[in-house]
Amino acid sequence: MSGHSLRDRHGRVATDLRVSLTDRCNLRCTYCMPEAGLPWLPKPELLTDHEVIRLVGVAVTRLGVTEVRFTGGEPLLRPGLPAIVEAVGRLDPRPEISLTTNAIGLERLAPVLVEAGLDRVNVSLDTLEPDRFKELAKRDRLERTLHGIKAASQAGLDPVKLNTVLMRGVNDDEAPALLRFALAHDYQLRFIEQMPLDAGGTWRRDQMVTAAEILESLKAEFDLVPDPAHRGSAPAETWLVDGGPAKVGVIGSVTRPFCGDCDRTRLTADGQVRNCLFARDETDLRDLARSGAGDEEIAERWQAAMLGKKPGHGIDDPSFLQPARPMSAIGG
Ligand code: SAM
Ligand code: SF4
Repeated sequence: MSGHSLRDRHGRVATDLRVSLTDRCNLRCTYCMPEAGLPWLPKPELLTDHEVIRLVGVAVTRLGVTEVRFTGGEPLLRPGLPAIVEAVGRLDPRPEISLTTNAIGLERLAPVLVEAGLDRVNVSLDTLEPDRFKELAKRDRLERTLHGIKAASQAGLDPVKLNTVLMRGVNDDEAPALLRFALAHDYQLRFIEQMPLDAGGTWRRDQMVTAAEILESLKAEFDLVPDPAHRGSAPAETWLVDGGPAKVGVIGSVTRPFCGDCDRTRLTADGQVRNCLFARDETDLRDLARSGAGDEEIAERWQAAMLGKKPGHGIDDPSFLQPARPMSAIGG
Protein backbone atom coordinates (compact mmCIF):
# COMPACT_ATOMS: atom_id res chain seq x y z
CA MET A 1 0.00 0.00 0.00
CA SER A 2 1.45 3.35 -0.96
CA GLY A 3 2.16 6.30 1.33
CA HIS A 4 2.20 6.54 5.08
CA SER A 5 -1.14 8.11 5.76
CA LEU A 6 -4.68 7.04 6.54
CA ARG A 7 -6.31 7.93 3.26
CA ASP A 8 -9.74 6.87 2.05
CA ARG A 9 -11.23 6.55 -1.43
CA HIS A 10 -12.95 9.94 -1.17
CA GLY A 11 -9.81 12.03 -0.78
CA ARG A 12 -9.91 12.39 2.99
CA VAL A 13 -6.89 11.79 5.21
CA ALA A 14 -7.36 10.85 8.86
CA THR A 15 -4.98 12.63 11.23
CA ASP A 16 -7.17 12.73 14.33
CA LEU A 17 -7.29 9.51 16.36
CA ARG A 18 -9.99 8.87 18.98
CA VAL A 19 -9.02 6.15 21.41
CA SER A 20 -11.61 4.64 23.72
CA LEU A 21 -9.94 3.49 26.92
CA THR A 22 -12.94 1.76 28.47
CA ASP A 23 -16.58 1.03 27.70
CA ARG A 24 -17.52 1.55 31.36
CA CYS A 25 -18.94 4.69 32.86
CA ASN A 26 -19.99 6.13 36.20
CA LEU A 27 -22.92 8.02 34.60
CA ARG A 28 -25.86 6.82 32.53
CA CYS A 29 -26.63 9.70 30.16
CA THR A 30 -29.87 8.62 28.55
CA TYR A 31 -28.70 9.39 24.99
CA CYS A 32 -25.73 7.08 25.52
CA MET A 33 -26.25 4.28 28.03
CA PRO A 34 -29.21 2.45 29.60
CA GLU A 35 -29.72 2.95 33.33
CA ALA A 36 -28.85 -0.67 34.07
CA GLY A 37 -25.52 -0.34 32.26
CA LEU A 38 -24.37 -2.69 29.53
CA PRO A 39 -22.53 -6.00 29.46
CA TRP A 40 -18.99 -4.63 29.87
CA LEU A 41 -16.14 -5.97 27.80
CA PRO A 42 -14.30 -8.73 29.66
CA LYS A 43 -10.83 -7.64 30.77
CA PRO A 44 -8.86 -10.03 28.54
CA GLU A 45 -10.54 -8.45 25.52
CA LEU A 46 -9.43 -4.94 26.46
CA LEU A 47 -6.15 -3.62 25.17
CA THR A 48 -3.57 -3.43 27.91
CA ASP A 49 -1.91 -0.07 28.58
CA HIS A 50 1.12 -1.34 26.73
CA GLU A 51 -0.99 -2.36 23.71
CA VAL A 52 -2.76 1.02 23.63
CA ILE A 53 0.59 2.80 23.65
CA ARG A 54 1.94 0.56 20.91
CA LEU A 55 -1.06 1.03 18.59
CA VAL A 56 -1.18 4.79 19.16
CA GLY A 57 2.56 4.78 18.43
CA VAL A 58 1.96 3.05 15.10
CA ALA A 59 -0.67 5.63 14.18
CA VAL A 60 1.53 8.58 15.13
CA THR A 61 4.92 7.47 13.88
CA ARG A 62 3.86 5.54 10.76
CA LEU A 63 0.47 6.83 9.69
CA GLY A 64 0.56 10.60 10.08
CA VAL A 65 -1.77 10.94 13.07
CA THR A 66 -1.13 14.31 14.74
CA GLU A 67 -3.91 14.45 17.34
CA VAL A 68 -4.82 11.80 19.87
CA ARG A 69 -7.98 12.13 21.95
CA PHE A 70 -8.72 9.71 24.78
CA THR A 71 -12.37 8.97 25.40
CA GLY A 72 -14.70 6.14 26.40
CA GLY A 73 -16.95 5.26 28.28
CA GLU A 74 -15.35 7.36 30.96
CA PRO A 75 -11.58 7.53 30.38
CA LEU A 76 -10.85 8.76 33.92
CA LEU A 77 -11.92 5.31 35.13
CA ARG A 78 -8.86 3.80 33.46
CA PRO A 79 -6.13 3.54 36.10
CA GLY A 80 -3.37 3.63 33.48
CA LEU A 81 -4.52 6.92 31.92
CA PRO A 82 -1.67 9.13 33.25
CA ALA A 83 0.95 6.57 32.18
CA ILE A 84 -0.64 6.25 28.73
CA VAL A 85 -0.70 10.04 28.30
CA GLU A 86 2.91 10.27 29.37
CA ALA A 87 4.05 7.58 26.93
CA VAL A 88 2.10 9.12 24.04
CA GLY A 89 3.67 12.47 24.90
CA ARG A 90 7.10 10.95 24.36
CA LEU A 91 6.31 9.91 20.76
CA ASP A 92 8.21 11.62 18.01
CA PRO A 93 6.62 13.60 16.42
CA ARG A 94 4.67 14.43 19.53
CA PRO A 95 0.92 14.49 18.88
CA GLU A 96 -1.55 16.87 20.53
CA ILE A 97 -3.11 14.97 23.42
CA SER A 98 -6.64 15.63 24.58
CA LEU A 99 -9.34 14.04 26.68
CA THR A 100 -13.14 13.88 26.52
CA THR A 101 -14.56 13.27 29.98
CA ASN A 102 -17.53 13.80 32.27
CA ALA A 103 -15.01 15.39 34.72
CA ILE A 104 -15.92 13.16 37.68
CA GLY A 105 -12.55 12.56 39.28
CA LEU A 106 -10.83 15.39 37.43
CA GLU A 107 -10.50 17.30 40.67
CA ARG A 108 -7.78 14.86 41.71
CA LEU A 109 -6.52 13.89 38.26
CA ALA A 110 -6.28 17.20 36.38
CA PRO A 111 -2.85 18.20 37.80
CA VAL A 112 -1.56 14.64 37.36
CA LEU A 113 -2.67 14.55 33.72
CA VAL A 114 -1.25 17.98 32.95
CA GLU A 115 2.04 16.86 34.46
CA ALA A 116 1.88 13.74 32.26
CA GLY A 117 1.47 15.89 29.15
CA LEU A 118 -2.26 16.37 28.55
CA ASP A 119 -2.82 19.42 26.33
CA ARG A 120 -6.58 19.89 26.19
CA VAL A 121 -9.84 18.73 27.70
CA ASN A 122 -13.49 18.59 26.62
CA VAL A 123 -16.03 18.10 29.37
CA SER A 124 -19.62 17.00 28.82
CA LEU A 125 -22.08 19.21 30.68
CA ASP A 126 -25.75 19.07 29.73
CA THR A 127 -27.35 20.99 32.57
CA LEU A 128 -26.62 23.27 35.52
CA GLU A 129 -29.60 22.06 37.52
CA PRO A 130 -28.93 19.25 39.99
CA ASP A 131 -32.36 17.61 39.56
CA ARG A 132 -32.04 17.58 35.80
CA PHE A 133 -28.54 16.20 35.99
CA LYS A 134 -29.93 13.36 38.05
CA GLU A 135 -32.74 12.75 35.58
CA LEU A 136 -30.42 12.95 32.60
CA ALA A 137 -27.43 11.00 33.87
CA LYS A 138 -29.24 8.87 36.47
CA ARG A 139 -26.68 9.88 39.07
CA ASP A 140 -26.56 12.86 41.43
CA ARG A 141 -23.15 14.17 40.41
CA LEU A 142 -23.50 17.74 39.12
CA GLU A 143 -21.38 19.16 41.91
CA ARG A 144 -18.53 16.77 41.24
CA THR A 145 -18.68 17.57 37.54
CA LEU A 146 -18.50 21.30 38.24
CA HIS A 147 -15.58 20.82 40.63
CA GLY A 148 -13.82 18.75 37.98
CA ILE A 149 -14.29 21.46 35.35
CA LYS A 150 -12.88 24.09 37.71
CA ALA A 151 -9.91 21.87 38.54
CA ALA A 152 -9.14 21.42 34.83
CA SER A 153 -8.97 25.16 34.39
CA GLN A 154 -6.90 25.64 37.55
CA ALA A 155 -4.46 22.97 36.37
CA GLY A 156 -3.77 25.13 33.33
CA LEU A 157 -5.82 23.36 30.65
CA ASP A 158 -6.82 26.12 28.28
CA PRO A 159 -9.31 26.39 26.75
CA VAL A 160 -11.60 24.13 28.73
CA LYS A 161 -14.26 23.11 26.22
CA LEU A 162 -17.75 22.10 27.29
CA ASN A 163 -19.96 19.80 25.19
CA THR A 164 -23.72 19.89 25.57
CA VAL A 165 -26.38 17.62 24.11
CA LEU A 166 -29.89 19.07 24.33
CA MET A 167 -32.90 16.81 24.60
CA ARG A 168 -36.44 17.90 23.94
CA GLY A 169 -38.47 18.40 27.08
CA VAL A 170 -35.47 17.68 29.28
CA ASN A 171 -32.89 20.47 28.95
CA ASP A 172 -33.74 22.18 25.65
CA ASP A 173 -34.57 25.43 27.45
CA GLU A 174 -31.12 25.65 29.01
CA ALA A 175 -28.95 26.75 26.09
CA PRO A 176 -28.75 30.45 27.12
CA ALA A 177 -28.04 29.59 30.78
CA LEU A 178 -25.24 27.21 29.77
CA LEU A 179 -23.75 29.88 27.52
CA ARG A 180 -23.93 32.47 30.31
CA PHE A 181 -22.12 30.03 32.59
CA ALA A 182 -19.43 29.34 29.97
CA LEU A 183 -18.88 33.04 29.28
CA ALA A 184 -18.62 33.82 33.00
CA HIS A 185 -15.87 31.23 33.47
CA ASP A 186 -14.15 31.60 30.12
CA TYR A 187 -15.02 28.06 29.00
CA GLN A 188 -15.76 27.33 25.33
CA LEU A 189 -19.21 25.84 24.88
CA ARG A 190 -20.33 23.66 21.98
CA PHE A 191 -23.74 22.14 21.45
CA ILE A 192 -23.86 18.75 19.74
CA GLU A 193 -26.97 17.42 18.01
CA GLN A 194 -28.07 14.13 19.48
CA MET A 195 -27.11 11.23 17.21
CA PRO A 196 -28.64 7.74 16.90
CA LEU A 197 -26.01 6.09 19.08
CA ASP A 198 -27.91 5.27 22.26
CA ALA A 199 -27.89 1.71 23.47
CA GLY A 200 -31.69 1.57 23.61
CA GLY A 201 -32.18 2.61 19.97
CA THR A 202 -34.72 5.24 21.06
CA TRP A 203 -33.41 8.15 18.96
CA ARG A 204 -36.04 9.78 16.73
CA ARG A 205 -35.16 12.25 14.01
CA ASP A 206 -38.30 14.31 14.70
CA GLN A 207 -37.54 14.48 18.42
CA MET A 208 -34.00 15.74 18.01
CA VAL A 209 -33.20 19.34 18.95
CA THR A 210 -31.67 20.72 15.76
CA ALA A 211 -28.74 23.12 15.30
CA ALA A 212 -31.22 25.66 13.90
CA GLU A 213 -33.35 25.47 17.05
CA ILE A 214 -30.29 25.79 19.28
CA LEU A 215 -29.16 28.91 17.42
CA GLU A 216 -32.63 30.37 17.61
CA SER A 217 -32.82 29.97 21.36
CA LEU A 218 -29.34 31.49 21.80
CA LYS A 219 -30.16 34.43 19.53
CA ALA A 220 -33.06 35.35 21.79
CA GLU A 221 -30.48 36.41 24.36
CA PHE A 222 -27.17 36.89 22.56
CA ASP A 223 -25.96 38.61 19.45
CA LEU A 224 -24.37 35.89 17.30
CA VAL A 225 -22.22 36.58 14.25
CA PRO A 226 -20.63 33.77 12.19
CA ASP A 227 -16.99 33.41 13.19
CA PRO A 228 -14.88 34.61 10.26
CA ALA A 229 -12.15 32.08 11.16
CA HIS A 230 -12.40 29.18 8.73
CA ARG A 231 -14.03 26.01 10.01
CA GLY A 232 -11.55 23.62 8.34
CA SER A 233 -12.12 20.04 9.40
CA ALA A 234 -13.48 21.09 12.80
CA PRO A 235 -17.07 19.89 13.08
CA ALA A 236 -18.29 22.89 15.09
CA GLU A 237 -19.66 25.91 13.30
CA THR A 238 -18.64 28.75 15.55
CA TRP A 239 -20.27 32.08 16.28
CA LEU A 240 -18.87 35.19 17.92
CA VAL A 241 -20.97 36.05 20.98
CA ASP A 242 -21.92 39.70 21.55
CA GLY A 243 -19.13 40.95 19.29
CA GLY A 244 -16.51 38.43 20.51
CA PRO A 245 -13.90 37.40 21.34
CA ALA A 246 -16.04 34.76 23.14
CA LYS A 247 -17.43 32.08 20.85
CA VAL A 248 -20.04 29.37 20.91
CA GLY A 249 -20.02 26.28 18.72
CA VAL A 250 -22.85 24.23 17.27
CA ILE A 251 -22.11 20.78 15.90
CA GLY A 252 -24.93 19.85 13.55
CA SER A 253 -23.82 16.25 13.18
CA VAL A 254 -27.21 15.25 11.81
CA THR A 255 -28.68 18.30 10.07
CA ARG A 256 -25.39 19.85 8.89
CA PRO A 257 -23.09 16.86 8.40
CA PHE A 258 -19.38 17.50 7.96
CA CYS A 259 -18.49 14.02 6.66
CA GLY A 260 -16.77 15.50 3.59
CA ASP A 261 -14.15 17.08 5.86
CA CYS A 262 -13.86 14.23 8.34
CA ASP A 263 -10.28 13.58 9.47
CA ARG A 264 -10.99 10.94 12.14
CA THR A 265 -10.07 7.38 12.78
CA ARG A 266 -11.11 5.46 15.88
CA LEU A 267 -9.73 2.72 18.06
CA THR A 268 -12.10 0.96 20.47
CA ALA A 269 -11.08 -0.23 23.94
CA ASP A 270 -10.87 -3.76 22.56
CA GLY A 271 -8.54 -2.79 19.76
CA GLN A 272 -10.91 -2.48 16.80
CA VAL A 273 -10.40 0.23 14.20
CA ARG A 274 -13.56 2.03 13.13
CA ASN A 275 -13.32 4.36 10.16
CA CYS A 276 -16.50 6.20 11.21
CA LEU A 277 -18.71 6.55 14.31
CA PHE A 278 -21.49 5.02 12.24
CA ALA A 279 -19.44 2.27 10.58
CA ARG A 280 -20.96 -1.20 10.73
CA ASP A 281 -17.61 -2.93 10.22
CA GLU A 282 -14.56 -2.98 12.44
CA THR A 283 -11.02 -4.15 11.81
CA ASP A 284 -9.28 -6.09 14.54
CA LEU A 285 -5.80 -4.85 15.46
CA ARG A 286 -5.75 -6.44 18.90
CA ASP A 287 -5.50 -10.05 17.79
CA LEU A 288 -3.15 -9.06 14.99
CA ALA A 289 -0.83 -7.41 17.53
CA ARG A 290 -1.20 -10.35 19.92
CA SER A 291 -0.32 -12.81 17.15
CA GLY A 292 3.14 -11.25 16.90
CA ALA A 293 2.60 -8.95 13.89
CA GLY A 294 5.16 -6.20 13.41
CA ASP A 295 4.36 -2.49 13.36
CA GLU A 296 4.46 -2.35 9.56
CA GLU A 297 1.83 -5.06 9.23
CA ILE A 298 -0.38 -3.32 11.79
CA ALA A 299 0.01 -0.03 9.90
CA GLU A 300 -1.01 -1.71 6.64
CA ARG A 301 -4.11 -3.26 8.23
CA TRP A 302 -5.08 0.16 9.61
CA GLN A 303 -4.65 1.77 6.18
CA ALA A 304 -6.82 -0.95 4.61
CA ALA A 305 -9.51 -0.32 7.24
CA MET A 306 -9.67 3.37 6.30
CA LEU A 307 -9.97 2.71 2.56
CA GLY A 308 -13.50 1.42 3.09
CA LYS A 309 -14.70 4.61 4.82
CA LYS A 310 -18.09 5.64 3.44
CA PRO A 311 -18.57 9.17 2.08
CA GLY A 312 -21.19 10.02 4.71
CA HIS A 313 -23.06 8.69 7.73
CA GLY A 314 -26.37 8.43 5.86
CA ILE A 315 -28.53 9.05 8.94
CA ASP A 316 -31.22 10.55 6.71
CA ASP A 317 -31.15 7.62 4.30
CA PRO A 318 -34.14 5.29 4.73
CA SER A 319 -31.72 2.34 4.73
CA PHE A 320 -29.71 3.78 7.67
CA LEU A 321 -28.97 1.25 10.37
CA GLN A 322 -27.67 2.29 13.77
CA PRO A 323 -24.25 0.73 14.52
CA ALA A 324 -24.33 -2.40 16.64
CA ARG A 325 -22.31 -0.75 19.40
CA PRO A 326 -23.55 2.32 21.31
CA MET A 327 -21.50 5.50 21.72
CA SER A 328 -20.09 4.44 25.08
CA ALA A 329 -18.51 1.33 23.53
CA ILE A 330 -17.32 3.02 20.33
CA GLY A 331 -15.77 6.03 22.03
CA GLY A 332 -17.40 9.41 21.49
N1 SAM B 1 -17.70 9.92 29.21
C1 SAM B 1 -17.06 10.95 28.47
C2 SAM B 1 -17.97 12.12 28.28
O1 SAM B 1 -19.17 12.01 28.53
O2 SAM B 1 -17.47 13.17 27.86
C3 SAM B 1 -16.50 10.51 27.14
C4 SAM B 1 -17.33 9.61 26.31
S1 SAM B 1 -18.85 10.29 25.70
C5 SAM B 1 -19.47 8.93 24.76
C6 SAM B 1 -18.23 11.46 24.51
C7 SAM B 1 -19.21 12.50 24.03
O3 SAM B 1 -20.21 11.86 23.29
C8 SAM B 1 -19.90 13.29 25.12
O4 SAM B 1 -19.72 14.67 24.87
C9 SAM B 1 -21.35 12.92 24.96
O5 SAM B 1 -22.21 13.99 25.26
C10 SAM B 1 -21.41 12.53 23.52
N2 SAM B 1 -22.51 11.65 23.19
C11 SAM B 1 -22.82 10.45 23.73
N3 SAM B 1 -23.91 9.91 23.14
C12 SAM B 1 -24.29 10.80 22.19
C13 SAM B 1 -25.35 10.83 21.24
N4 SAM B 1 -26.24 9.85 21.14
N5 SAM B 1 -25.42 11.90 20.41
C14 SAM B 1 -24.53 12.91 20.50
N6 SAM B 1 -23.50 12.94 21.37
C15 SAM B 1 -23.39 11.90 22.22
FE1 SF4 C 1 -20.84 8.08 30.33
FE2 SF4 C 1 -20.02 9.93 28.63
FE3 SF4 C 1 -21.91 8.12 27.92
FE4 SF4 C 1 -22.53 9.99 29.72
S1 SF4 C 1 -21.94 10.35 27.55
S2 SF4 C 1 -22.98 7.77 29.88
S3 SF4 C 1 -20.63 10.27 30.78
S4 SF4 C 1 -19.80 7.71 28.37
